[in-house]
Amino acid sequence: MKVLVINCGSSSLKYQVIDSETEVVLAKGLCERIGIDGVLTYQPAGKDKIKYEAAMPAHKEAVSLVLKQLMDPETGVIASVDEIGAVGHRMVHGGEKFACSTLLTQEVLDTVASCNDLAPLHNPPTLVGVAACKELMPTTPMVGVFDTAFHQTMPAEAYIYGLPYEYYEKYAVRRYGFHGTSHKFVSQRVAEILGKKPEDLNIIVCHLGNGSSISAVKGGKCVDTSMGLTPLEGLIMGTRSGDIDPTIIEFIAHKENMTLEEVMTVINKKSGVQGLSGVSSDFRDLAAAAAEGNARAQLALDAFAYRVRKYIGSYAAAMDGVDVIAFTAGIGENDTAVRAAVASKLGYLGAKFDAEANNVRGEEATISTPDSKVTLMVVPTNEELAICRDTVEIVTNMVEEAVGK
Ligand code: AMP
Repeated sequence: MKVLVINCGSSSLKYQVIDSETEVVLAKGLCERIGIDGVLTYQPAGKDKIKYEAAMPAHKEAVSLVLKQLMDPETGVIASVDEIGAVGHRMVHGGEKFACSTLLTQEVLDTVASCNDLAPLHNPPTLVGVAACKELMPTTPMVGVFDTAFHQTMPAEAYIYGLPYEYYEKYAVRRYGFHGTSHKFVSQRVAEILGKKPEDLNIIVCHLGNGSSISAVKGGKCVDTSMGLTPLEGLIMGTRSGDIDPTIIEFIAHKENMTLEEVMTVINKKSGVQGLSGVSSDFRDLAAAAAEGNARAQLALDAFAYRVRKYIGSYAAAMDGVDVIAFTAGIGENDTAVRAAVASKLGYLGAKFDAEANNVRGEEATISTPDSKVTLMVVPTNEELAICRDTVEIVTNMVEEAVGK
């Protein structure tokens, strides 16, 4: 089956067409500046990238242009829309309502919309994207794969905040966690690579990218994760602060004469390694600046790695031991220096870092010595493939149910 995987933002739409049997990406691309002017990028497998401007007043036009491009006689990968067996949508926040991927019926979409309060920036664009696809492909099944779903197995002691309990009851204020598709994919892949059952492993997954999060996966189930009600909590990120004393928000609002919204913008968009260094949110820029003697860039790198190590320690405690620590996403897969700064200081856990083996980028590798008690690994994530797999599973079950199998 050919699956169209869609990841919608407020003004962007990333897409891939994956052949689910071979798991080969047939084409991928991006629509940007939706609602402003519109730029489409398209790359069929093994061919050059195409990029052009095209009017995209709304997501519907963007989806329509993507389908047209996919059917292009010269560069397309499908002859008609009917070749798309299903569409898998990356959904951000499913609240407590979705612990797994699900067929996007109208009832389900209404339930997702009821979670919009929890993710006002992220959920509405994904719903707009689903509506656009439904309009243009009315008979194609749509599946929602939630960023929060994998973390729904966390026990109450891990997801509850030390706040009046009524805020949880009235407003569902609790830890949800994000990047769940990636944490699930990587933890399952770790078990596969090691030839072990997920039930027999305690894994810490470090998803280190522009947004970063860590999770503790015990016996195949997430038992804790660093992002919270929103993706702001936890690690120091590209532009997000991660954990801070909440009083800082009030303190800075007074000192800088800012509104609550303005301070929240600073904490989300102007903090993290960008705010610390004043250089960049990109770790390649930070490494270059630090190498030239920029002390604040070095401080940002040190603080980032320190926070990761702190979380690893706390999750080893949460699981009463750890078997595998896996690094993934842009930084986790590629930044050998960050991995070294984290992984070389975990000796107290019995983890023996192998500096030579660590010299890999973007590929699966073990970066601990053979006698290490804890296995340190690099495992590239593939959220689109994970979405494709879930989508096929749901659609196959749906078809089997319909024929009464
Ligand atoms: P992601 O959000 O997973 O796409 O990760 C993006 C981040 O990964 C970028 O902002 C960079 O900081 C980092 N990154 C990507 N490639 C490299 C690389 N080759 N070396 C170091 N950092 C990288």
